[in-house]
Amino acid sequence: MRRGFLNSKKVKAVPLYPEPAEKIPVIPKGLQGEEHYRTDPHDGRRNIKIPYGSSGKENLPEKYKGPQTVYKALHTDLEHETDSTNIVYTTLPEQFIGVPEHSDGHTQCMLMGATKAQIVGSRRYLTQPIPKVASAIVVIKNASEGAGLGMFAERDIKFGERILAERPLLMHPAVYLYTPGAAGVDEYTFEQHMAIMRHETEIGLEFALRRMSDENQAVYKALSNAHKEDGSGPLFGIFRTNALGIDIDELTDTTSAPNVPRIYSIIVKDGSRINHSCTPNVCQKFSMASFSNQIFAIRDIKAGEEILYPYCDPFLPVADRREKLAPYGFTCTCRACSAATPESDKFRQTCKENIARYQRIYDVALGLRQGNDDIRKKVLGPAAAMRDRMMEEGLGGMYEEFVDVTVLLHKAYTKLAVQEEAKGLQRFLKFWALLQGA
Ligand SMILES: [Zn+2]
Repeated sequence: MRRGFLNSKKVKAVPLYPEPAEKIPVIPKGLQGEEHYRTDPHDGRRNIKIPYGSSGKENLPEKYKGPQTVYKALHTDLEHETDSTNIVYTTLPEQFIGVPEHSDGHTQCMLMGATKAQIVGSRRYLTQPIPKVASAIVVIKNASEGAGLGMFAERDIKFGERILAERPLLMHPAVYLYTPGAAGVDEYTFEQHMAIMRHETEIGLEFALRRMSDENQAVYKALSNAHKEDGSGPLFGIFRTNALGIDIDELTDTTSAPNVPRIYSIIVKDGSRINHSCTPNVCQKFSMASFSNQIFAIRDIKAGEEILYPYCDPFLPVADRREKLAPYGFTCTCRACSAATPESDKFRQTCKENIARYQRIYDVALGLRQGNDDIRKKVLGPAAAMRDRMMEEGLGGMYEEFVDVTVLLHKAYTKLAVQEEAKGLQRFLKFWALLQGA
């Protein structure tokens, strides 16, 4: 959570619950959205989400001779590749000659050399084994209405339970850095660059897959592919259908250089089977400490219920969500989509500014003699109503907005000594704090 109220000096002075050990958003909200792919104001560099579509040679410019990127395979990890201009094929945790495989398995990675150095040098990296998850919590089976496979609860699952913890099969940049005007860039049009990118990504994935065990290759190839009709290469189609985003800067203690992508995608075996809903019942968290992707219940889930996770930013209006989901080849019929109105769209879009407003009123009221009245009337009432509505709309997960409104309410209830209500919010806040340190 980068911009939340928890970062304010006031909260730090009087911590209500343990300080987050790791500054990461539990759900990288908007990771699939535009805000992470915007133009860099300093150098005009654009982070372009790697495009899908035909990866065939017929779209390549005539003068194209082969990959512009230097691809380098590290057969052993005895050398630490830190050249930020090179993409390296590597394995995390690192594999050394004569050393047995890691008991939790390995991830095949295509990384910029600098990103590998950033991960391996991170304070938390690989300080814990992957947490054991009780078996028979979930099962993967056919979902209804042609949705392919899905994940279902095998028994009642409690809010906050860890459902999955698994080492990714693959890690790969999610973005292509495109800098108009940079050396060599203007040789081709933007469209030609994208055609090259699609072509080279498929080749790159073929290479990465060859480094996997036969078993993991088979698992990867069996994942669903929503891009069978648009000419996408088969491996890249699977990649775009199943990738989960992670932000390297949020997960490590350092900041990536401007010419290095910070948004990567991971593919996992079981987690990739979770279908979409804008009203999800689980959240995703990548743990650098155990180099694993983890899934947690964000509400009580009944046995038999499908496990659902949002593939797009649920705070977007319904039309925008539909547009973001179109490449996956389905139309979401969750209750937030089927019952959407212009009013519910507006509610989603104004959550952030409304919380900021309640926070400002609260901060001002703290300095007033009659401040408690203001807190009661102008903060507690509307913020509590907003929090209830967010839960109704399916926005009650681990989103920054929901955490912020809960923290604000908890502070306000505590200030007014409404112990019962404050206590009611603690369960959520404790879970949230726990996740931050996982
Ligand atoms: Zn929906």
